[in-house]
Amino acid sequence: MRIREIHIYHHALPVKNGPYRMANATVWSLDTTLVRIVGDNGLEGWGETCPVGPTYAESHAAGARAALALMAPDLIGAEIWPAMLQRKMASLLNGHNYAKAAIDIAAHDLLGKSLCVSVADLLGGAVTDNVPSYYASGVGAPDDIARIAAEKLAEGYPRLQIKVGGRPVEIDIETIRKVWEVIRGTGMRLAVDGNRGWKTRDALRVSRECPDIPFIMEQPCNTIEDLRTIRSLVSHGIYMDENSVDLNTVISAVGTGLVDGFGMKITRIGGLQHMRTFREICEARNLPHTCDDAWGGDIIAAACTQIASTMRPDLCEGAWLAAPYIEGNYDPENGIKIEGGYIKRPTGAGLGITPDVSVFGAPAASF
Ligand SMILES: [Mg+2]
Repeated sequence: MRIREIHIYHHALPVKNGPYRMANATVWSLDTTLVRIVGDNGLEGWGETCPVGPTYAESHAAGARAALALMAPDLIGAEIWPAMLQRKMASLLNGHNYAKAAIDIAAHDLLGKSLCVSVADLLGGAVTDNVPSYYASGVGAPDDIARIAAEKLAEGYPRLQIKVGGRPVEIDIETIRKVWEVIRGTGMRLAVDGNRGWKTRDALRVSRECPDIPFIMEQPCNTIEDLRTIRSLVSHGIYMDENSVDLNTVISAVGTGLVDGFGMKITRIGGLQHMRTFREICEARNLPHTCDDAWGGDIIAAACTQIASTMRPDLCEGAWLAAPYIEGNYDPENGIKIEGGYIKRPTGAGLGITPDVSVFGAPAASF
C-alpha cells in the first residue's frame, strides 16, 4: 500500500486555567500540527505532533511543519509499511524525529484501518484496555501542589509527577515533603521531574535531604554528563526524559547503566515504530518507562494509549495525556479521556478515533 496524498494542518490548543509552568517553559497555548495521509486504497490515517513550546525540547511547531513540507513531496508514492517508511524518511531528512513521528503515526492509523485491526494489534497486541495514566502538576507553591496531590489521589491516579526546578531548591524540597505527607502509605508512586532545571548541586542536595521519600528523579539536570556526575552520588532512581532524543541515546544510557528508567515520548523518538523498539530494549533490561507525548489532542493521545496498552504492565509507568489540561476533543464521540486515573483504549481499527476535520479548517499545505 502506498501514500497517495498528504495534508498538513495546524490548530491552537489553549491551556485550561493556564499557564502551565515547568522549569524552562511557561505555556499558555499549544500549536499542534496534524497530518492526514490518504492511501492508494482511499482510506486515510491521522498523525499529530505538538512541541510544548520552543524551549522544552529541541523542537518547535513551525519546525515540524517545515520538515513535513520538505519530506512530503517525496513521500507521495512511498510504501506505508512503518519500517520502510522510516528508512524513506531518513533518506530525505536527517534527524527531526518529532516531525517524522506525525507521518509514522498516520501510517500506523491507515495501516490498522486498512487491515481492520487496532494500532495496538500492529504493535504486538494490547495486554490491557484500561491503561494507567499519571498526573503531572506544574511548578507551584508547596501547599498548592500538595492539594493537587490529594485531589489526584482521590480521583484514582496510580502515580503523580510533580514538577520542580527554576526556583530556589529549598521550595522544591518543601514541595516534595508536603506531597509525601499526603500520599505516604497510599501506594501512589511519585516522580519528581526537574525538566533539566536543577544544577547537579541541587539534585545531590534533594537526594541527601529526602532519603526517606521513595521518589524517582526524572531528568533532574540538563545534560547526560550531569546525570553521569550525580549517578553514583544520589540514593534515588534516575529516569531520563529530555536527553533520550533517539534510540541510539537510549541504547547508550541502558548499556552504561546510567538510568533506572525513562520518561519517553513518541514524537521525540520518532514515532510508534521506534517506540516499539524502545519497548523491547526496556523489557530486555527490566527498565520502567512512561509512554507519553509532550502535548497534543486526541490523535497523539490515542497513539500514546495504543502503544502503552502493549507495554509490560510491571514496567509501564503510565501514559501522560494533555487531555486534562486542554478543552474539547477532535472526535466528539470517541475522544480520549482519563477517568479515575486510567484511559480506556479505543478498540476500533487504527487509532480508534475519527477526528472531525472541520475542527482544523483548511490544510496549511497539501501534497
Ligand atoms: Mg518529564
